[in-house]
Amino acid sequence: MKKRILLLAGGQSGEHEVSLMSARSVLAALPRDQFDVTPVAISKQGRWLPPTDTRQALESGAAGTGGDLVLHRVASAEGYDAVFPLLHGPMGEDGTVQGLLTLAGIPFVGSGVLGSAVSMDKVMTKQVLASAGIPQVEWRLAVRREWQSDADSVRRRATELGFPLFVKPANLGSSVGISKVQGAQELDAALDLAFSLDRRVILEAMTAHKPRELEVGVLGNDSPIASPVGELRFASEFYDYETKYTEGRASVHIPAPIPEEVAGRVRELALSAFKALDCAGLARVDFFYLEESGELLLNEVNTMPGFTQTSMYPKLFEAAGLGYSELVTRLVELALEER
Ligand code: ATP
Ligand code: MG
Ligand code: MG
Ligand code: MG
Repeated sequence: MKKRILLLAGGQSGEHEVSLMSARSVLAALPRDQFDVTPVAISKQGRWLPPTDTRQALESGAAGTGGDLVLHRVASAEGYDAVFPLLHGPMGEDGTVQGLLTLAGIPFVGSGVLGSAVSMDKVMTKQVLASAGIPQVEWRLAVRREWQSDADSVRRRATELGFPLFVKPANLGSSVGISKVQGAQELDAALDLAFSLDRRVILEAMTAHKPRELEVGVLGNDSPIASPVGELRFASEFYDYETKYTEGRASVHIPAPIPEEVAGRVRELALSAFKALDCAGLARVDFFYLEESGELLLNEVNTMPGFTQTSMYPKLFEAAGLGYSELVTRLVELALEER
């Protein structure tokens, strides 16, 4: 019997378009002799779009309006064997959709409520990983109400970290809303931008100098494996949205040209982080590597990483001998596995 799979794409976050791109690749790659796949696009307004609108969204890369509340439609997913919630950012990668699917009793690809929610929030992630002894940059939390009522205390906290520093919405991805702040005069604009996108904002010390950026894939449930390590290189100040999604701005190197010992540490740290955060299925773990000192700092954990044919996560496993179609098949198997 073929497995019936519901593929969710789009969603309400700033990474809506990225998700639609990923979904198009996954849809094409799930082997048809094993799976019956129904894609559903979720609009930016958070509506579950009917089949014709979904098809159009996948083709054009942008979903239209209309449709029903996701809340009302998730129960209709009951007849599916598994859901692939290929959604990035808030209302998709953060445990909300995972909670609805858990309530509905439908297995799904990726981390559950806990792993999704904690990994989505950069502050929570840092707190959990710090207690697991994983090295990270210095950071501070600020919340919106505080920024509105006592901006000076937020500014002071930023100044403690020194410049340049990074200001980020705590719950986003694709570098949306992230600023590299060079000095005090740029701070307010960066905070205004981040707070326009999230109630919680993380201030992060910059690594000692521009770091090398390494990424590793993790695959599995309670006994996960790590992929080879990849490196991203680019000329821009940091790995911002434009650099991520403009053809030719960044290059990917797999395996990363780093000492074997460093690659080993990256993989170990990634597996420890995956377990500490209670992730499941898959995650892409991002690191900063300071070559001179040999220091590795864990930057973040993405529980639903970009998933086009050229995205880092599938490329990393391809280098390990697991092709794209085999990888998505494996992810569905992991969703169905007893834990
Ligand atoms: P993703 O698309 O991988 O989910 P994201 O939106 O969650 O990304 P981050 O990975 O936290 O964002 O940061 C984006 C980029 O900003 C990093 O890849 C790096 O280039 C730069 N960066 C972020 N924080 C720091 C830091 N503390 N020190 C140096 N560079 C940083
Ligand atoms: Mg991220
Ligand atoms: Mg992300
Ligand atoms: Mg990142």
